[in-house]
Amino acid sequence: MSSAQDILQSVFGFPSFRPPQQQIIQTLIDGGDALVLMPTGGGKSLCYQIPAIVRQGCGVVISPLIALMQDQVSALRLFGVRAAFLNSTLDRSTAEEIEQSLLDGKLDLLYIAPERLNQARTLSLLRQASIALFAIDEAHCVSQWGHDFRVDYLQLSLLHELFPDVPRIALTATADDRTREEIIQRLELTAARHFIAGFDRPNIRYRIALKHNPKQQLLRFLRLEHADDAGIIYCLSRKKTEDIAYWLQDQGFDALPYHAGLNGETRARHQDKFLREDGVIIVATIAFGMGIDKPDVRFVVHLDMPKTIESYYQETGRAGRDGEAADAWMIYGLQDVIKLRQMMAGSGGSEEFKRAEQHRLNAMLGLCEITTCRRQTLLAYFGEILDQPCGNCDTCLEPAQTWDGTEAARMALSAAYRTGQRFGVNHLVDVLRGADTDKIFQFNHHHLASYGIGTDLDNNQWRSVFRQLVARGYLSVDLERFGGLRLETACRPLLRGEERIELRLDIKAKAAKRQTKTALALDVDVALWEALRDCRREFAEEQGVPPYVIFHDSALQEMCVNLPRDLNEFSLVSGVGERKLEKYGPAFIRVIGDHLSAH
Ligand code: ADP
Ligand code: ZN
Repeated sequence: MSSAQDILQSVFGFPSFRPPQQQIIQTLIDGGDALVLMPTGGGKSLCYQIPAIVRQGCGVVISPLIALMQDQVSALRLFGVRAAFLNSTLDRSTAEEIEQSLLDGKLDLLYIAPERLNQARTLSLLRQASIALFAIDEAHCVSQWGHDFRVDYLQLSLLHELFPDVPRIALTATADDRTREEIIQRLELTAARHFIAGFDRPNIRYRIALKHNPKQQLLRFLRLEHADDAGIIYCLSRKKTEDIAYWLQDQGFDALPYHAGLNGETRARHQDKFLREDGVIIVATIAFGMGIDKPDVRFVVHLDMPKTIESYYQETGRAGRDGEAADAWMIYGLQDVIKLRQMMAGSGGSEEFKRAEQHRLNAMLGLCEITTCRRQTLLAYFGEILDQPCGNCDTCLEPAQTWDGTEAARMALSAAYRTGQRFGVNHLVDVLRGADTDKIFQFNHHHLASYGIGTDLDNNQWRSVFRQLVARGYLSVDLERFGGLRLETACRPLLRGEERIELRLDIKAKAAKRQTKTALALDVDVALWEALRDCRREFAEEQGVPPYVIFHDSALQEMCVNLPRDLNEFSLVSGVGERKLEKYGPAFIRVIGDHLSAH
């Protein structure tokens, strides 16, 4: 029997485990149950794949993501692992062949959809086979309170009764305590060891800027930092996803829209292109995401503010699953807040529900406005303490400047108060700056004490003051009155002179330094990089798998740097196991050799 470490190296081509993979794997090899909470990209798959190979019998993986099974299985086969799947996409005779190889002990891993597992026929098949372990992926699907609830997951407690001696591992990236409790209870995992990895995604750089000219800001970001990269751009409305996608096409990007209003065939086609080709951008509503397992998404953009920090974290988490540098880039403005509040107001639901939503929106807004480390705030929201500022978010990289906004804030608040708490930002700014618009004269606002007292700040600066007062909950937006600003009790200490307020100084976002991008940042030879990508693409097309299944970008990057000349040197590249060495090594070595002799 090979050890877990041997298999990690010889099959998967990785030199070492990431914490806490090794302990999890050992727990299962020893026959124990495990509950694993690890962020996206943390490396959950190896936690059951390796023990399934080490232990006697076949590992059974239950996963709701049918669309991904094919790719997961193809990827394992390229590593030389005997893997197969059973789901509704197979015809009868193929399914029977797979069942037979299970019974013959010819499989290391079998992926099964939950609805299929619950069929009497499947259960009786499994009882005749030798089972190494059960892995329950996306285990939060048992949670009836979550977004991804699957009724078939509730039946999975059966496994414990029918196969009391087979170790089980449940895995999820969903963090909160309540979901965790539900998983333990519903899957009867009370005896399982818990492995909870931190939720930080250090390779993701968080940046949040003010929206002033969204398309130009986006274009600049893409051109300067992600010209050939795959990424996801989230928008709030279906129409906007299409506008942006077609506009990006005009700008020369390979961009496609994705939303629930497109027909199934179009959606499948766009998603497939995104997964299988290099450098495709998907412009999507939140309908896009669940089950997107693409490891080399280099950026996630939010052109509109998400409703909650949970959504923001989940959506940005789709970037950089391969551990390479990735960007989470968002632009927002007061208009986003107003739009989201309108959507919430119109959404139905109890008062209590709306209050909770409001609360979560405020937390999101708080994240946008903070002047300290974004990552610390994000993690703190999920109950995790990061001792030091992260050094990889915008506020760490370019500390936000603040100014004493006490006087300005008081002026802004009294302008709202004196005009009857029913006017929106634009008019209040006109009052403060002493503008002579029709509306000012119509309401006699040129006689107010607030009129014209704020000429020291320009329109944008005043808008920034109002936005930050809303973000802090000092002012609220009255939706029944067309966005009129109302004073909240929180502003009293400030008005009474008992409090001072530091405001964020809005500066036009400077061109960010290029994020250490794959390959190019290392000054590697672009021609070699391209040649290796071509070689990878040919193999990918030949095998009908996405390019990253052949080799990750990081592996190609390593090849560019180390320039392996023979199989022995090539075997040292991370991600090159024995099977891939044999199958792809010669071709890639040839590409490198040709390149070196030509230059
Ligand atoms: P998750 O399912 O937790 O989102 P995956 O299992 O897909 O994450 O792993 C994410 C990436 O990390 C994969 O590309 C995988 O090959 C890589 N990976 C996992 N474990 C290791 C390791 N010990 N060393 C190097 N790369 C690893
Ligand atoms: Zn930071």
